[in-house]
Amino acid sequence: MSDLADLSQGDLFTPPDPILTTDSLDGLHVLIRACTRCPELVEYRTQAVPGVGPADARVVFIGEAPGRWEDQKGEPFVGDAGSYLTELLEKIGLDRSQVYITNIVKCRPPDNRNPKTPEMDNCTAFLERQLSLIKPDLVVLLGRVALERFFPKEKITDAAAQPRHRRIGERDVVFLPMLHPAFGIRRQDLKPEIERQFWKIREILDEL
Ligand code: URA
Repeated sequence: MSDLADLSQGDLFTPPDPILTTDSLDGLHVLIRACTRCPELVEYRTQAVPGVGPADARVVFIGEAPGRWEDQKGEPFVGDAGSYLTELLEKIGLDRSQVYITNIVKCRPPDNRNPKTPEMDNCTAFLERQLSLIKPDLVVLLGRVALERFFPKEKITDAAAQPRHRRIGERDVVFLPMLHPAFGIRRQDLKPEIERQFWKIREILDEL
């Protein structure tokens, strides 16, 4: 086949998707920070908040969306819920610097409203690429929004602390839903239950 005939097949004219072709987490973070897919979020955000932690973390935590402090600092879970998350990690012998932390949606929704479905859809390719680059053994889903994104029919109250398996590419990955740490800030009486759920992380990591 001539070169021209080759070109006419079309694939040389389709630019490769940079999200799928970037092979570094830092490169992906650059793409996330430059994203303008959600006009309302772009207008409202100070900056996008890609995620933080080592590119080879064994555990990835996924929350809902950045809040006010995260939007200002450019790092997930740095407000009250974040301090509590750090405290919970320490209780089970994990340093925050050992885990990767991100959100379903990378930009702060106005007035901390729930992210809308199209916003979550727009961020899916970023999240999938984060998981395929990091290759974690365990993904902790913090709260209802994160759970429903991966397991749409499940309820957080039933699913919390119940591990389940899913394939990411060739790999079998454990997913562990949890009550969101923000719950423990609003409802101090739930703290013992949240802490009990966190011990499941330690148990799973020790078994893997
Ligand atoms: N901060 C985040 O980054 N995500 C949440 O889900 C809550 C607080």
